[in-house]
Amino acid sequence: MAVPKKKVSRSRRDMRRSHDGLPSAGPNECPNCGEMKLPHHVCAACGYYDGREVVDVEAI
Ligand SMILES: [Zn+2]
Repeated sequence: MAVPKKKVSRSRRDMRRSHDGLPSAGPNECPNCGEMKLPHHVCAACGYYDGREVVDVEAI
């Protein structure tokens, strides 16, 4: 049922929207070494991203 915009208070509107947020992205398995890593991040264990080595982890 549609309700006029002015009839819904800021509080009611915002309480409804409290459920609209996206859940945080969980860790994925690194395709190179199998270690858990965050999506869209360089793997901290092997330094790989998108199928190639980006950071030299062994040197550190
Ligand atoms: Zn890795």
